[in-house]
Amino acid sequence: MKTGTPVRIDGRSVHYDLMETQDGENDFHRFSFMSEPRKLKQLQCWTCFTNEEVHEILRKGLPDSPLFNGQIQSIGPRYCPSIETKIVTFPDKPQHQLFLEPEGETTQELYLNGFSSSLPMDIQLAALKKVPAFKDLVVYRPGYAIEYDYFDPTQLKHTLESKIIKNLFLAGQVNGTTGYEEAGGQGIIAGINAHINCHGGEPFTLGRDEAYIGVLIDDLVTKGVDEPYRMFTSRAEYRILLRQDDADMRLTERAYKLGLVKQDRYEHLCSKRETVSRIIDFAKTFSIKAALINDALESLGTARLTHGCKLIDLLNRPQITIENIAGHIPAFKALLDQITDRKEEVIEAAEVLIKYQGYIDRERMIADKIHRLEAIRIKGKFDYNSLNSLSTEARQKLMKIDPETLAQASRIPGISPSDINVLLVLLGR
Ligand SMILES: Cc1cc2nc3c(=O)[nH]c(=O)nc-3n(C[C@H](O)[C@H](O)[C@H](O)COP(=O)(O)OP(=O)(O)OC[C@H]3O[C@@H](n4cnc5c(N)ncnc54)[C@H](O)[C@@H]3O)c2cc1C
Repeated sequence: MKTGTPVRIDGRSVHYDLMETQDGENDFHRFSFMSEPRKLKQLQCWTCFTNEEVHEILRKGLPDSPLFNGQIQSIGPRYCPSIETKIVTFPDKPQHQLFLEPEGETTQELYLNGFSSSLPMDIQLAALKKVPAFKDLVVYRPGYAIEYDYFDPTQLKHTLESKIIKNLFLAGQVNGTTGYEEAGGQGIIAGINAHINCHGGEPFTLGRDEAYIGVLIDDLVTKGVDEPYRMFTSRAEYRILLRQDDADMRLTERAYKLGLVKQDRYEHLCSKRETVSRIIDFAKTFSIKAALINDALESLGTARLTHGCKLIDLLNRPQITIENIAGHIPAFKALLDQITDRKEEVIEAAEVLIKYQGYIDRERMIADKIHRLEAIRIKGKFDYNSLNSLSTEARQKLMKIDPETLAQASRIPGISPSDINVLLVLLGR
């Protein structure tokens, strides 16, 4: 397979006045539920566009591109194509967006996202200089592509141990994936199981409904790969069960049982769980009188009540959040005021569980349905090309294979359970 990276440029040579600015997000979510918020200084990014002149120079350089002259024949990640791939695949597009991302706080170096390339450096530079903001551009390092080998991951068990050679574990890009998180996610599972092999214990795996790592590894070992595999949320069929806010609730206990999480962290989880259930129980049982809440409801832009209801009914309204209603219900506010540890996180977890309960139930039902209907015949029933709700990748692969049954479709590499779900819904209609 192959992968590549864009040119790095000198920020002092760029005309910032000829570009748009793009700020970072203000809503900081952390990966860790243990560390304190670490507010890094936020640096601005900039955006600009390529144009026909840029494309013309790149097009003329194609015979020198290892990607197009046959020197590199391997398959790159379809989700981060090089600029030359973009102009060949989308010849009708007059421009492509570029993002200038600072490499750090103490450097002038910028990462030119969107301009990955393996063309010779002089062609990259000549093309870039046709972008008005880059007319005086100085390049630190050109973009480049590399090729690598991988082992067919269908030779592995879900523990990432080879089926053929005991105690040999493979994790990361060597299994046909691409990406830092993909490599890290496999690494921890392989590491845990290598330890278990040495010290005893049950093999450790994660299910598709437990973690994205579970989806990633199940895809790898059951379907194999025919292009660099990237973990996308869209590859998971249980997206509502695999949420960012509940990653700790899904996984900490599993880690604790393995001895990977210390007592204090486990206790932290137990107390969070308990507080979340206390909030939900309160919302389910607390009755609201219309007369006492109607003014507040009006001020929050939602309909007045004609008669009383439970607090949970109000929280199911899109305009109402735990935070904005609590000030109007003293008993509820008092309950929330008792939370001293990670208040924001706990409230978010409770609110997601309250507001999405219906969707969570629906997802469970769909999962059951998929199991039952796996053998349904679909050959000749769809014009895949016209199914906009399928990804381009899914459409291409379904057209190529034209599967007999839904079960066969589900086994085609690149067809995700959520694609199968789309077909199921259409069949139902
Ligand atoms: C140019 C480029 C740009 C990329 N950009 C991104 C990006 O923006 N975002 C992203 O998510 N991913 C990106 N990737 C992909 C990502 O870097 C890799 O998928 C990921 O780092 C793979 O991690 P790994 O641990 O599986 O393998 P590696 O990081 O390759 O680690 C394998 C290690 O094994 C060592 N090794 C090899 N043979 C032996 C041996 N016999 N004995 C001992 N050690 C050995 C190697 O030296 C190496 O350190 C990019 C990759 C490339 C090449």
